[in-house]
Amino acid sequence: MHFNINSEQETMQKMAREFADKEIAPYAGDLDENEEFPTEILKKLHSVGLHDLAVPEEYGGPGVDSLSYSLIIEQIARGCAGVAVTSSANGNSLALYSLIIGGTEEQKQRFLVPICEEGKLASFSLTEPNAGSDAAAIATTARKDGNHYIINGSKCFITNASYAGYHTVFANVVNGSGVKKPSVFMLESNMPGITVGKKEKKMGLRCSNTAELFFEDVRVPEENLIGKEGDGLRLAMKTLDMARPSVGAISIGLAQAAFDAAVAYSKTREQFGRPICKNQAIQFMLADMATEIEAARLLVYQASWLKDRFYKDGISFTKQAAFAKVFASDVAMKVTTDAVQIFGGYGYSREYPVEKYMRDAKIMQIFEGSNQIQRIVIAGKILE
Ligand SMILES: Cc1cc2nc3c(=O)[nH]c(=O)nc-3n(C[C@H](O)[C@H](O)[C@H](O)COP(=O)(O)OP(=O)(O)OC[C@H]3O[C@@H](n4cnc5c(N)ncnc54)[C@H](O)[C@@H]3O)c2cc1C
Repeated sequence: MHFNINSEQETMQKMAREFADKEIAPYAGDLDENEEFPTEILKKLHSVGLHDLAVPEEYGGPGVDSLSYSLIIEQIARGCAGVAVTSSANGNSLALYSLIIGGTEEQKQRFLVPICEEGKLASFSLTEPNAGSDAAAIATTARKDGNHYIINGSKCFITNASYAGYHTVFANVVNGSGVKKPSVFMLESNMPGITVGKKEKKMGLRCSNTAELFFEDVRVPEENLIGKEGDGLRLAMKTLDMARPSVGAISIGLAQAAFDAAVAYSKTREQFGRPICKNQAIQFMLADMATEIEAARLLVYQASWLKDRFYKDGISFTKQAAFAKVFASDVAMKVTTDAVQIFGGYGYSREYPVEKYMRDAKIMQIFEGSNQIQRIVIAGKILE
Protein backbone atom coordinates (compact mmCIF):
# COMPACT_ATOMS: atom_id res chain seq x y z
CA MET A 1 0.00 0.00 0.00
CA HIS A 2 1.36 3.38 -0.99
CA PHE A 3 -0.20 6.43 0.61
CA ASN A 4 1.76 9.02 -1.36
CA ILE A 5 0.20 10.78 -4.31
CA ASN A 6 2.28 11.17 -7.47
CA SER A 7 3.87 14.46 -8.49
CA GLU A 8 1.21 15.22 -11.14
CA GLN A 9 -1.57 14.70 -8.58
CA GLU A 10 0.29 16.86 -6.09
CA THR A 11 0.61 19.65 -8.66
CA MET A 12 -3.13 19.54 -9.41
CA GLN A 13 -4.01 19.47 -5.71
CA LYS A 14 -1.78 22.51 -5.10
CA MET A 15 -3.28 24.35 -8.06
CA ALA A 16 -6.83 23.66 -6.81
CA ARG A 17 -5.89 24.68 -3.25
CA GLU A 18 -4.46 28.00 -4.46
CA PHE A 19 -7.46 28.57 -6.71
CA ALA A 20 -9.84 27.92 -3.81
CA ASP A 21 -7.93 30.26 -1.47
CA LYS A 22 -7.68 33.09 -4.00
CA GLU A 23 -10.71 32.79 -6.27
CA ILE A 24 -13.39 31.06 -4.18
CA ALA A 25 -13.10 31.44 -0.40
CA PRO A 26 -13.04 35.28 -0.37
CA TYR A 27 -16.38 35.36 -2.26
CA ALA A 28 -18.14 32.38 -0.66
CA GLY A 29 -19.86 34.37 2.10
CA ASP A 30 -21.36 36.95 -0.27
CA LEU A 31 -22.46 34.33 -2.80
CA ASP A 32 -24.23 32.50 0.03
CA GLU A 33 -25.80 35.63 1.49
CA ASN A 34 -27.08 36.81 -1.92
CA GLU A 35 -27.95 33.29 -3.16
CA GLU A 36 -25.94 34.20 -6.24
CA PHE A 37 -24.91 31.68 -8.89
CA PRO A 38 -21.06 31.57 -9.18
CA THR A 39 -20.88 32.37 -12.91
CA GLU A 40 -17.50 34.12 -12.84
CA ILE A 41 -15.86 31.45 -10.69
CA LEU A 42 -17.10 28.74 -13.06
CA LYS A 43 -15.62 30.60 -16.03
CA LYS A 44 -12.27 30.77 -14.25
CA LEU A 45 -12.43 27.09 -13.23
CA HIS A 46 -13.05 26.26 -16.88
CA SER A 47 -10.24 28.48 -18.13
CA VAL A 48 -7.65 26.87 -15.82
CA GLY A 49 -8.81 23.33 -16.67
CA LEU A 50 -10.44 22.49 -13.32
CA HIS A 51 -13.96 21.96 -14.70
CA ASP A 52 -15.50 18.92 -16.48
CA LEU A 53 -12.76 16.90 -14.81
CA ALA A 54 -14.11 13.46 -15.66
CA VAL A 55 -14.43 14.12 -19.39
CA PRO A 56 -11.66 12.32 -21.33
CA GLU A 57 -9.13 14.43 -23.22
CA GLU A 58 -10.32 13.20 -26.64
CA TYR A 59 -13.63 15.02 -25.99
CA GLY A 60 -12.01 18.23 -24.77
CA GLY A 61 -11.97 17.54 -21.01
CA PRO A 62 -8.94 17.40 -18.70
CA GLY A 63 -9.54 13.62 -18.36
CA VAL A 64 -7.92 13.42 -14.94
CA ASP A 65 -7.80 10.13 -13.02
CA SER A 66 -10.40 9.63 -10.30
CA LEU A 67 -8.07 10.23 -7.36
CA SER A 68 -6.91 13.54 -8.89
CA TYR A 69 -10.55 14.44 -9.37
CA SER A 70 -11.24 13.86 -5.66
CA LEU A 71 -8.11 15.76 -4.61
CA ILE A 72 -9.20 18.74 -6.74
CA ILE A 73 -12.88 18.80 -5.75
CA GLU A 74 -11.94 18.46 -2.05
CA GLN A 75 -9.89 21.66 -2.34
CA ILE A 76 -12.62 23.49 -4.26
CA ALA A 77 -15.12 22.49 -1.54
CA ARG A 78 -12.74 23.84 1.10
CA GLY A 79 -13.33 27.19 -0.63
CA CYS A 80 -17.10 26.73 -1.06
CA ALA A 81 -19.18 23.56 -1.18
CA GLY A 82 -21.80 25.33 -3.33
CA VAL A 83 -19.21 26.00 -6.04
CA ALA A 84 -17.91 22.42 -5.77
CA VAL A 85 -21.42 21.00 -6.20
CA THR A 86 -22.18 23.31 -9.14
CA SER A 87 -19.06 22.17 -10.96
CA SER A 88 -19.25 18.56 -9.86
CA ALA A 89 -22.93 18.08 -10.81
CA ASN A 90 -21.77 18.81 -14.34
CA GLY A 91 -18.84 17.08 -15.97
CA ASN A 92 -17.15 16.13 -12.76
CA SER A 93 -19.70 13.58 -11.86
CA LEU A 94 -23.43 13.44 -12.31
CA ALA A 95 -24.69 14.92 -15.55
CA LEU A 96 -22.21 13.50 -18.03
CA TYR A 97 -21.44 10.02 -16.72
CA SER A 98 -24.36 8.32 -18.47
CA LEU A 99 -22.98 9.69 -21.72
CA ILE A 100 -19.36 8.85 -20.85
CA ILE A 101 -20.11 5.25 -19.90
CA GLY A 102 -23.16 4.54 -22.10
CA GLY A 103 -22.99 6.88 -25.10
CA THR A 104 -21.81 6.14 -28.64
CA GLU A 105 -18.70 7.76 -30.11
CA GLU A 106 -20.95 10.00 -32.24
CA GLN A 107 -22.96 11.13 -29.15
CA LYS A 108 -19.81 11.87 -27.16
CA GLN A 109 -18.45 14.01 -30.02
CA ARG A 110 -21.81 15.77 -30.44
CA PHE A 111 -22.41 16.60 -26.75
CA LEU A 112 -19.16 16.41 -24.77
CA VAL A 113 -17.01 18.42 -27.19
CA PRO A 114 -19.19 21.60 -27.18
CA ILE A 115 -19.86 21.27 -23.44
CA CYS A 116 -16.11 21.22 -22.72
CA GLU A 117 -15.12 23.77 -25.37
CA GLU A 118 -17.72 26.34 -24.40
CA GLY A 119 -17.81 25.58 -20.67
CA LYS A 120 -21.53 24.82 -20.85
CA LEU A 121 -23.39 23.22 -17.96
CA ALA A 122 -25.55 20.10 -17.98
CA SER A 123 -28.03 18.77 -15.45
CA PHE A 124 -28.72 15.26 -14.15
CA SER A 125 -32.50 15.08 -14.18
CA LEU A 126 -33.69 12.03 -12.29
CA THR A 127 -35.64 13.08 -9.18
CA GLU A 128 -39.38 13.72 -9.43
CA PRO A 129 -41.97 14.82 -6.88
CA ASN A 130 -42.98 11.17 -6.26
CA ALA A 131 -39.64 9.53 -7.06
CA GLY A 132 -36.80 10.54 -4.75
CA SER A 133 -35.06 7.62 -3.04
CA ASP A 134 -37.20 5.31 -5.14
CA ALA A 135 -35.81 6.29 -8.55
CA ALA A 136 -37.64 3.41 -10.24
CA ALA A 137 -40.93 5.22 -9.52
CA ILE A 138 -40.30 7.99 -12.10
CA ALA A 139 -43.44 8.95 -14.03
CA THR A 140 -41.88 10.99 -16.87
CA THR A 141 -42.67 9.25 -20.16
CA ALA A 142 -41.02 9.02 -23.58
CA ARG A 143 -43.42 7.92 -26.34
CA LYS A 144 -41.93 6.77 -29.66
CA ASP A 145 -43.24 8.76 -32.63
CA GLY A 146 -41.43 7.85 -35.89
CA ASN A 147 -37.76 8.65 -35.41
CA HIS A 148 -38.45 10.85 -32.35
CA TYR A 149 -39.47 10.39 -28.72
CA ILE A 150 -42.08 12.69 -27.18
CA ILE A 151 -41.20 13.44 -23.57
CA ASN A 152 -43.74 14.51 -20.94
CA GLY A 153 -43.31 14.92 -17.20
CA SER A 154 -41.54 16.94 -14.55
CA LYS A 155 -38.40 16.84 -12.41
CA CYS A 156 -37.57 18.56 -9.14
CA PHE A 157 -34.47 19.52 -7.13
CA ILE A 158 -32.33 19.57 -10.27
CA THR A 159 -28.88 21.10 -9.75
CA ASN A 160 -27.96 23.68 -12.43
CA ALA A 161 -31.42 23.36 -14.05
CA SER A 162 -31.74 27.12 -14.72
CA TYR A 163 -28.25 27.43 -16.23
CA ALA A 164 -27.78 24.14 -18.07
CA GLY A 165 -27.41 24.01 -21.85
CA TYR A 166 -28.16 20.28 -21.75
CA HIS A 167 -30.26 18.01 -19.55
CA THR A 168 -29.63 14.29 -19.00
CA VAL A 169 -33.23 13.18 -18.54
CA PHE A 170 -34.52 9.86 -17.22
CA ALA A 171 -37.92 8.80 -18.61
CA ASN A 172 -39.91 5.62 -19.17
CA VAL A 173 -40.38 4.48 -22.74
CA VAL A 174 -43.85 2.95 -22.64
CA ASN A 175 -44.76 0.42 -25.33
CA GLY A 176 -48.26 -0.45 -26.64
CA SER A 177 -48.94 -3.02 -23.91
CA GLY A 178 -47.96 -0.52 -21.17
CA VAL A 179 -44.54 -2.06 -20.34
CA LYS A 180 -42.21 0.67 -18.96
CA LYS A 181 -38.57 0.78 -19.99
CA PRO A 182 -36.60 3.33 -17.96
CA SER A 183 -34.31 5.14 -20.42
CA VAL A 184 -32.01 8.13 -20.56
CA PHE A 185 -31.93 10.94 -23.12
CA MET A 186 -29.77 14.00 -23.78
CA LEU A 187 -31.95 17.08 -24.24
CA GLU A 188 -30.85 20.53 -25.35
CA SER A 189 -32.32 23.16 -23.04
CA ASN A 190 -33.73 25.20 -25.97
CA MET A 191 -35.88 22.33 -27.26
CA PRO A 192 -39.52 23.52 -27.47
CA GLY A 193 -41.60 22.27 -24.52
CA ILE A 194 -38.91 22.52 -21.82
CA THR A 195 -39.51 25.06 -19.05
CA VAL A 196 -37.62 25.74 -15.86
CA GLY A 197 -39.82 26.04 -12.77
CA LYS A 198 -39.25 27.60 -9.39
CA LYS A 199 -35.77 27.91 -7.93
CA GLU A 200 -35.51 26.29 -4.49
CA LYS A 201 -34.69 28.56 -1.55
CA LYS A 202 -32.35 26.34 0.41
CA MET A 203 -30.82 25.98 3.90
CA GLY A 204 -27.31 25.65 2.47
CA LEU A 205 -25.44 25.41 -0.85
CA ARG A 206 -27.15 28.69 -1.54
CA CYS A 207 -25.00 29.70 -4.51
CA SER A 208 -25.80 26.40 -6.22
CA ASN A 209 -28.87 26.51 -8.45
CA THR A 210 -31.60 23.93 -7.71
CA ALA A 211 -34.85 24.11 -9.69
CA GLU A 212 -37.76 22.24 -11.24
CA LEU A 213 -37.93 21.22 -14.89
CA PHE A 214 -41.08 20.62 -16.93
CA PHE A 215 -41.36 18.72 -20.20
CA GLU A 216 -44.43 19.15 -22.36
CA ASP A 217 -44.45 17.22 -25.64
CA VAL A 218 -40.71 17.70 -26.09
CA ARG A 219 -39.67 16.12 -29.42
CA VAL A 220 -36.32 14.44 -28.99
CA PRO A 221 -34.52 12.77 -31.95
CA GLU A 222 -33.94 9.04 -31.39
CA GLU A 223 -30.18 9.68 -31.79
CA ASN A 224 -30.35 11.33 -28.34
CA LEU A 225 -31.25 8.08 -26.55
CA ILE A 226 -28.19 7.01 -24.50
CA GLY A 227 -27.65 3.27 -24.64
CA LYS A 228 -30.77 1.22 -25.35
CA GLU A 229 -34.38 1.58 -24.23
CA GLY A 230 -34.48 0.07 -20.73
CA ASP A 231 -30.85 1.00 -19.89
CA GLY A 232 -31.90 4.06 -17.85
CA LEU A 233 -31.97 2.67 -14.34
CA ARG A 234 -28.70 0.77 -14.79
CA LEU A 235 -27.00 3.94 -16.08
CA ALA A 236 -28.52 6.04 -13.27
CA MET A 237 -27.26 3.62 -10.59
CA LYS A 238 -23.79 3.40 -12.18
CA THR A 239 -23.67 7.20 -12.40
CA LEU A 240 -24.53 7.48 -8.71
CA ASP A 241 -21.78 4.97 -7.85
CA MET A 242 -19.33 7.12 -9.83
CA ALA A 243 -20.53 10.32 -8.14
CA ARG A 244 -20.38 9.11 -4.53
CA PRO A 245 -16.61 9.45 -4.02
CA SER A 246 -17.05 13.03 -5.22
CA VAL A 247 -19.73 13.75 -2.57
CA GLY A 248 -17.29 12.23 -0.08
CA ALA A 249 -14.49 14.50 -1.33
CA ILE A 250 -16.70 17.59 -1.09
CA SER A 251 -17.63 16.51 2.46
CA ILE A 252 -14.01 16.25 3.59
CA GLY A 253 -13.14 19.61 1.99
CA LEU A 254 -16.02 21.15 3.90
CA ALA A 255 -15.04 19.41 7.17
CA GLN A 256 -11.40 20.48 6.73
CA ALA A 257 -12.41 24.12 6.26
CA ALA A 258 -14.53 24.00 9.45
CA PHE A 259 -11.75 22.23 11.36
CA ASP A 260 -9.07 24.74 10.27
CA ALA A 261 -11.33 27.63 11.33
CA ALA A 262 -12.02 25.96 14.70
CA VAL A 263 -8.31 25.33 15.43
CA ALA A 264 -7.40 28.94 14.60
CA TYR A 265 -10.27 30.34 16.68
CA SER A 266 -9.52 28.09 19.68
CA LYS A 267 -5.99 29.53 19.84
CA THR A 268 -7.09 33.16 19.84
CA ARG A 269 -10.34 33.15 21.84
CA GLU A 270 -9.55 33.65 25.54
CA GLN A 271 -11.85 32.80 28.43
CA PHE A 272 -10.90 32.38 32.09
CA GLY A 273 -7.62 34.12 31.26
CA ARG A 274 -6.30 31.66 28.66
CA PRO A 275 -7.02 30.49 25.09
CA ILE A 276 -9.92 28.03 24.97
CA CYS A 277 -7.61 25.46 23.27
CA LYS A 278 -5.85 25.03 26.62
CA ASN A 279 -8.95 23.17 27.87
CA GLN A 280 -8.79 19.42 27.42
CA ALA A 281 -12.48 19.34 26.49
CA ILE A 282 -11.72 21.48 23.42
CA GLN A 283 -8.52 19.56 22.65
CA PHE A 284 -10.40 16.24 22.65
CA MET A 285 -13.01 17.66 20.30
CA LEU A 286 -10.24 18.82 17.95
CA ALA A 287 -8.49 15.44 18.19
CA ASP A 288 -11.70 13.58 17.30
CA MET A 289 -12.44 15.96 14.44
CA ALA A 290 -8.95 15.47 12.98
CA THR A 291 -9.16 11.68 13.34
CA GLU A 292 -12.57 11.48 11.70
CA ILE A 293 -11.55 13.70 8.78
CA GLU A 294 -8.48 11.55 8.18
CA ALA A 295 -10.51 8.31 8.28
CA ALA A 296 -13.07 9.79 5.86
CA ARG A 297 -10.29 10.97 3.56
CA LEU A 298 -8.80 7.45 3.38
CA LEU A 299 -12.19 5.94 2.47
CA VAL A 300 -12.77 8.61 -0.20
CA TYR A 301 -9.31 8.16 -1.73
CA GLN A 302 -9.71 4.38 -1.71
CA ALA A 303 -13.12 4.60 -3.44
CA SER A 304 -11.65 7.05 -5.98
CA TRP A 305 -8.78 4.67 -6.73
CA LEU A 306 -11.26 1.79 -7.15
CA LYS A 307 -13.33 3.94 -9.52
CA ASP A 308 -10.38 3.95 -11.94
CA ARG A 309 -10.16 0.17 -11.72
CA PHE A 310 -13.85 0.06 -12.63
CA TYR A 311 -13.06 2.15 -15.72
CA LYS A 312 -10.20 -0.21 -16.65
CA ASP A 313 -11.58 -3.66 -15.89
CA GLY A 314 -15.18 -3.23 -14.73
CA ILE A 315 -14.55 -4.29 -11.09
CA SER A 316 -17.53 -3.11 -9.00
CA PHE A 317 -16.84 -0.56 -6.27
CA THR A 318 -20.46 0.03 -5.23
CA LYS A 319 -19.87 -0.86 -1.56
CA GLN A 320 -16.72 1.27 -1.20
CA ALA A 321 -18.41 4.21 -2.96
CA ALA A 322 -21.26 3.96 -0.43
CA PHE A 323 -18.77 3.64 2.49
CA ALA A 324 -17.05 6.83 1.32
CA LYS A 325 -20.26 8.81 0.82
CA VAL A 326 -21.98 7.80 4.05
CA PHE A 327 -18.95 8.10 6.31
CA ALA A 328 -17.53 11.33 4.89
CA SER A 329 -20.90 13.11 4.87
CA ASP A 330 -21.65 12.02 8.46
CA VAL A 331 -18.18 13.26 9.45
CA ALA A 332 -18.80 16.58 7.67
CA MET A 333 -22.06 17.04 9.59
CA LYS A 334 -20.43 16.22 12.94
CA VAL A 335 -17.23 18.22 12.39
CA THR A 336 -19.03 21.33 11.15
CA THR A 337 -21.45 21.14 14.12
CA ASP A 338 -18.49 20.80 16.51
CA ALA A 339 -16.79 23.77 14.83
CA VAL A 340 -19.88 25.89 15.57
CA GLN A 341 -19.69 24.67 19.18
CA ILE A 342 -16.03 25.69 19.48
CA PHE A 343 -16.89 29.16 18.15
CA GLY A 344 -19.65 29.42 20.80
CA GLY A 345 -22.16 32.22 20.15
CA TYR A 346 -19.94 33.62 17.40
CA GLY A 347 -20.29 30.30 15.58
CA TYR A 348 -24.02 30.88 15.41
CA SER A 349 -23.50 34.33 13.91
CA ARG A 350 -23.43 34.79 10.14
CA GLU A 351 -20.38 37.01 10.57
CA TYR A 352 -18.24 33.89 10.89
CA PRO A 353 -18.00 31.17 8.25
CA VAL A 354 -18.69 28.08 10.36
CA GLU A 355 -22.50 28.27 10.39
CA LYS A 356 -22.39 28.17 6.57
CA TYR A 357 -20.23 25.05 6.67
CA MET A 358 -22.78 23.41 8.95
CA ARG A 359 -25.70 24.37 6.68
CA ASP A 360 -23.79 23.20 3.61
CA ALA A 361 -22.89 19.87 5.22
CA LYS A 362 -26.48 18.75 5.83
CA ILE A 363 -27.29 18.13 2.16
CA MET A 364 -24.31 15.77 1.82
CA GLN A 365 -26.29 13.28 3.96
CA ILE A 366 -29.38 13.65 1.77
CA PHE A 367 -28.62 13.88 -1.94
CA GLU A 368 -27.14 11.42 -4.44
CA GLY A 369 -28.76 8.63 -2.42
CA SER A 370 -29.56 9.55 1.19
CA ASN A 371 -27.42 8.02 3.94
CA GLN A 372 -30.25 5.63 4.79
CA ILE A 373 -30.17 4.43 1.18
CA GLN A 374 -26.34 4.09 1.36
CA ARG A 375 -26.72 1.85 4.40
CA ILE A 376 -29.27 -0.24 2.48
CA VAL A 377 -26.75 -0.55 -0.38
CA ILE A 378 -23.94 -1.55 2.02
CA ALA A 379 -26.14 -4.06 3.87
CA GLY A 380 -27.27 -5.51 0.54
CA LYS A 381 -23.64 -6.04 -0.51
CA ILE A 382 -22.73 -7.60 2.87
CA LEU A 383 -25.64 -10.02 2.73
CA GLU A 384 -25.62 -10.92 -0.97
C1 LIG B 1 -29.79 20.73 -3.05
C2 LIG B 1 -30.28 19.51 -3.76
C3 LIG B 1 -29.73 19.18 -4.98
C4 LIG B 1 -30.19 18.06 -5.68
N1 LIG B 1 -29.70 17.79 -6.93
C5 LIG B 1 -30.27 16.80 -7.68
C6 LIG B 1 -29.91 16.62 -9.05
O1 LIG B 1 -29.06 17.33 -9.61
N2 LIG B 1 -30.55 15.65 -9.76
C7 LIG B 1 -31.49 14.85 -9.21
O2 LIG B 1 -32.03 14.00 -9.91
N3 LIG B 1 -31.85 14.99 -7.89
C8 LIG B 1 -31.28 15.94 -7.12
N4 LIG B 1 -31.65 16.13 -5.82
C9 LIG B 1 -32.66 15.24 -5.23
C10 LIG B 1 -32.07 14.30 -4.17
O3 LIG B 1 -31.23 13.34 -4.77
C11 LIG B 1 -33.25 13.71 -3.39
O4 LIG B 1 -33.76 14.75 -2.57
C12 LIG B 1 -32.84 12.51 -2.55
O5 LIG B 1 -32.55 11.41 -3.38
C13 LIG B 1 -33.93 12.08 -1.56
O6 LIG B 1 -35.17 12.00 -2.18
P1 LIG B 1 -36.43 12.76 -1.50
O7 LIG B 1 -36.01 14.14 -1.21
O8 LIG B 1 -37.61 12.55 -2.37
O9 LIG B 1 -36.62 12.03 -0.12
P2 LIG B 1 -37.46 10.63 0.17
O10 LIG B 1 -37.05 9.63 -0.84
O11 LIG B 1 -38.89 11.03 0.26
O12 LIG B 1 -36.92 10.27 1.57
C14 LIG B 1 -37.32 10.93 2.78
C15 LIG B 1 -36.57 10.28 3.94
O13 LIG B 1 -36.93 8.89 4.02
C16 LIG B 1 -35.77 8.09 3.95
N5 LIG B 1 -36.07 6.85 3.22
C17 LIG B 1 -36.66 6.74 1.99
N6 LIG B 1 -36.77 5.46 1.66
C18 LIG B 1 -36.24 4.73 2.68
C19 LIG B 1 -36.04 3.34 2.94
N7 LIG B 1 -36.40 2.41 2.04
N8 LIG B 1 -35.47 2.97 4.10
C20 LIG B 1 -35.08 3.91 5.00
N9 LIG B 1 -35.23 5.24 4.83
C21 LIG B 1 -35.79 5.63 3.68
C22 LIG B 1 -34.72 8.94 3.23
O14 LIG B 1 -33.42 8.54 3.54
C23 LIG B 1 -35.05 10.32 3.76
O15 LIG B 1 -34.43 10.50 5.01
C24 LIG B 1 -31.19 17.23 -5.09
C25 LIG B 1 -31.73 17.57 -3.85
C26 LIG B 1 -31.31 18.70 -3.19
C27 LIG B 1 -31.96 19.07 -1.90
